[in-house]
Amino acid sequence: LRTKPHLNIGTMGHVDHGKTTLTAAITKVLADRVGGRYVPFERIDRTPEEARRGITIDVAHVEYETATRHYAHVDMPGHADYVKNMITGAAQVDGAILVVSATDGVMPQTREHVLLARRLGVGHLAVALNKADAGDPELLELVELEIRELLDRHGFDGAATPVVAVSALGALAGEPRWTASVVALLDAVEEHVPVPHRDLDSPFLMPVENVLTITGRGTVLTGAIERGVVAVGDTVDALGLGRGVSAVVTGIETFGRTMERGEAGDNAALLLRGVRREQVARGQVVAAAGSIGLHGAFRGELRLLGAAEGGRHTPVRSGYRPQFHLRTADVVGVLDLGEVEAVEPGTTVAATVRLGAPEPLEVGLGFAVREGGRTVAEGTVHDLLP
Ligand code: GDP
Repeated sequence: LRTKPHLNIGTMGHVDHGKTTLTAAITKVLADRVGGRYVPFERIDRTPEEARRGITIDVAHVEYETATRHYAHVDMPGHADYVKNMITGAAQVDGAILVVSATDGVMPQTREHVLLARRLGVGHLAVALNKADAGDPELLELVELEIRELLDRHGFDGAATPVVAVSALGALAGEPRWTASVVALLDAVEEHVPVPHRDLDSPFLMPVENVLTITGRGTVLTGAIERGVVAVGDTVDALGLGRGVSAVVTGIETFGRTMERGEAGDNAALLLRGVRREQVARGQVVAAAGSIGLHGAFRGELRLLGAAEGGRHTPVRSGYRPQFHLRTADVVGVLDLGEVEAVEPGTTVAATVRLGAPEPLEVGLGFAVREGGRTVAEGTVHDLLP
């Protein structure tokens, strides 16, 4: 059943740098080598909200196995409009493959994705320096330097992070040299991206990524289990966005298989009894009954991104109302800086935040702050306020 350690991984990076092609190439290479299932480019589900073809595709877009590990792989869209989805995706991956085109180099979404990945708890990256078939060798070296610098700037270890020159397109075409490049990338992931410690002892919690109705069966919540264990028959609370409801878990599916239980690290679909679709929503969490409460305000630390990092150009004052991305939730929050009059981009500040709707907050929870479609700050919850 669970014979190999499981890792949630995703491809991220700027639009058109080759994320989907690489995802297809990985499944092709593995199908040839370890007998997995090849998932062609057209089958990779890029916008799950629009192509809701069932629980499985919605939860783990692509699943594959190497000789030593089982992977659930999300292809995270790179276009600026999709960064919201990427925030959700990144919150659920243990590690990521950053795809950077050798012909274009580091682009705005490459930067934003690295920053968000760090903020949202992705500990380790491997870099696919893609389109190596098209870029000249000197360019490859320059782009590699640029990538390592970017990683260092955002708290990753640039020198230790593997940067592997690949051609996703070449591997997909079965060219031996480029097939070997994708194998090398997978080896680098196995070496550099560890299977994280799974917290199986804390009370169960899963951020809700999607809500579906399955005719004749009921309401289904999907997401990645953050901690703990859930079993069929358990009573859970779905709460957040200012409301909550209790329900009994009547079915669990992980990676397309019906299970009696799900545990931290699993992408899961939970079938709930006694809940209507309108009562639950993406952005809530589903948690062990009574284990977590709602809070409308917190004290926290915010690091305002500098203009060069894609942040604001003008200072922030009390009364500022951006969007707060907490786990899969996206809620408005109002900043109170107390005595401080104004804060310049590029600095870190302590502030009180009052949320538009009470959320299941916890001390230590990280968040991203966005305004007008771009990320302007990142932060951490320090104290909960009533
Ligand atoms: P995504 O938006 O990051 O998912 O990028 P896609 O996978 O859709 O690829 C974007 C374009 O780049 C397509 O036209 C691909 O055929 C092309 N492409 C992807 N990988 C490679 C590669 O390794 N070499 C070359 N030359 N082109 C590639």
